[in-house]
Amino acid sequence: MPAGRHFLQIPGPSNVPDRILRAMDYPTMDHRGPGFAEVGKAALEGVKWVFGTESHVVIYPSSGTGAWEAALVNTLSPGDTVLMYETGHFSTLWKKLAERLGLNPIFIEGDWRGGADPSAIEARLREDTAHEIKAVCVVHNETSTGSVSPIADVRKAIDAAGHPALFMVDTISGLASIEYRHDDWGVDVTVSGSQKGLMLPPGISFNAVSEKALAASKSAKLQKSYWAWDDMIGPNKTGYFPYTPATNILYGLNEAIAMLREEGLQNVFARHARHAAATRAAVQAWGLEVLCKNPAHYSGVLTAVLMPEGHSADNFRAVTLRNYDMSLGNGLSKVSDRVFRIGHLGDFNDLMLCGTLSGIEMGLRDAGVPHKAGGVQAAMDELGRQGAPAQAAAE
Ligand code: PLP
Repeated sequence: MPAGRHFLQIPGPSNVPDRILRAMDYPTMDHRGPGFAEVGKAALEGVKWVFGTESHVVIYPSSGTGAWEAALVNTLSPGDTVLMYETGHFSTLWKKLAERLGLNPIFIEGDWRGGADPSAIEARLREDTAHEIKAVCVVHNETSTGSVSPIADVRKAIDAAGHPALFMVDTISGLASIEYRHDDWGVDVTVSGSQKGLMLPPGISFNAVSEKALAASKSAKLQKSYWAWDDMIGPNKTGYFPYTPATNILYGLNEAIAMLREEGLQNVFARHARHAAATRAAVQAWGLEVLCKNPAHYSGVLTAVLMPEGHSADNFRAVTLRNYDMSLGNGLSKVSDRVFRIGHLGDFNDLMLCGTLSGIEMGLRDAGVPHKAGGVQAAMDELGRQGAPAQAAAE
């Protein structure tokens, strides 16, 4: 084991703060006993605040992929058409999942270098005068590319087209790191997971569900059992679950919500934006290119960096792991070996960022990747330019 702490700088799972680890380090309790109701109620209520919703949030003991499936099987019927947008690897996986379920996805193609384009969605919806499209599905923070889709604008596009489709958003890697408002943005199903901005280990996932989505679930005909919202929402009213919940992760979730409340969500978002800007300053100083080409879509969660032609991102990451004990995110599918991804999310501060960027700069040197020195300095300058981090302020 190398000395010191491993740097886990992938874009999720993110680092789990000691406070959350301690909150989970309790005996697992009887999930049907009297003591559990308080844990369950606190988690179910508290998480609504993180999603920005007054409606129900279903919590599954599953990874995010399960919550993707849950969103679709609860609301749709075999053969239904869904409009999806190709922002990157994760939107492509969600589309494949929809196909496997017997849905008929229309995929608006993208170049993986920005978020979804609301005008393209509006144009496609306007063509659909028969209202065959039953849902519009968009990934908020595309973790494979570091691009953010403008969710409020997609809502406006759906409204401008006068289309009744449900609106489903994957903010698995956006929630609690960048702004998200389920109710204000008129989202019908929001999908998320524990292992990113919520600073928890992998293991639980979420569906925030609007009244419209709940109504759709009454007539949806896709097969479902484990994922059925109805089975959850009943027992959830008293703080219980229909099957064994991930008890210890729920202890951690309550602690994560307390931490987010103490810092204040707006401060959390500002911290992420600040670190992302400093990271991009470093990338620019190295003479490398950020994968996201649209500055309005830059992600506060992660930065994907293009390697110079002819150089392997995976080799660079392997050298960095070996020499500096730091894990960086790999390039996925279409951009495999072409990009590396820097996670700057969750429980993360200025010095962790500087350590991360130092490791990258040394890794670039060790792996013989052509670059200019001075990226860490540029990041420090950017942090200084923006002023000291916001002081914690309770909301
Ligand atoms: N969607 C996005 C945007 C993700 O980042 C991920 C995982 O990283 C997923 C979906 C899939 O989630 P999971 O791996 O938890 O099943």
